[in-house]
Amino acid sequence: MSTLGHDVTIIEREERILKRVAATTTSQYFEKLHKKNGVKILASTSLVELLEKEGGVCGARFDNGSEIKTDLVICGIGIRPNQQLALDAGLTVNDGIVVTESCLTSDPNIVAAGDCARFPYCRNLIRLESVQNSIDQAEVAAATLFGRKMAYRPYPWFWSDQFDVKLQIAGLNVGFNRTVTRLGNRPGSESTWYFKDEKLLAVDAINDGRSFLIAKKLLENKNNPEMSKLEDSSFDIKALL
Ligand SMILES: Cc1cc2nc3c(=O)[nH]c(=O)nc-3n(C[C@H](O)[C@H](O)[C@H](O)COP(=O)(O)OP(=O)(O)OC[C@H]3O[C@@H](n4cnc5c(N)ncnc54)[C@H](O)[C@@H]3O)c2cc1C
Repeated sequence: MSTLGHDVTIIEREERILKRVAATTTSQYFEKLHKKNGVKILASTSLVELLEKEGGVCGARFDNGSEIKTDLVICGIGIRPNQQLALDAGLTVNDGIVVTESCLTSDPNIVAAGDCARFPYCRNLIRLESVQNSIDQAEVAAATLFGRKMAYRPYPWFWSDQFDVKLQIAGLNVGFNRTVTRLGNRPGSESTWYFKDEKLLAVDAINDGRSFLIAKKLLENKNNPEMSKLEDSSFDIKALL
């Protein structure tokens, strides 16, 4: 929107953007990028009301009492799944339909897959909203319906294009307690590696497709690189494979 010449303001309830999905280094990178492109960011700010005039929106009011004028609002605030149908069918739900690794619900005759399904992942129950997840999980659900034993073991990955920067994320960083950030080979490229103790959980690669692909392979092979190697900027991470 800002490249089209519009004044853009991002309202973020948390103290930094991307807080729910990324470490501070990744947030700071994108904060700088947006600011460089003329986008204002109001962090630690919650929307409390959209102001209307003549049937359209004309402004927004925030929890600190301040207001801004606006004529267009784009909401990206997440979703809450509608689980009424599943509830009516007597299925176990918990922010989504709870399923086993075979996509079986609490009713042995019903499977669920995709955005609506909450499934086991690294000793947690999670719900993922991505095309890759819905396709891969649907294959397992179909196998289950045909009586074949198959377990859904996802290796999640995501991407986001912001201005001329590509963010690629391999894995899920839930529960991380340590991170290492490495500069990539190209100017402006970097990657942040998330660990829980010695275990590699996820990698954010910014304009750094090479690190993304290597990280994805390491995660799929359950290969946990030593953090000290990653901290060494002269170390070629390809050697980890
Ligand atoms: C704006 C937007 C951008 C996105 N961008 C990306 C992206 O870049 N990359 C990515 O990986 N993912 C992206 N996603 C997420 C992705 O679209 C979803 O994760 C994926 O479509 C989920 O597939 P699904 O089959 O679980 O659900 P859906 O695709 O939502 O399909 C569910 C279908 O069920 C139908 N339905 C609902 N209730 C009933 C009923 N009672 N009876 C019959 N039919 C019913 C719905 O109409 C719908 O057609 C995006 C989503 C949105 C909204």
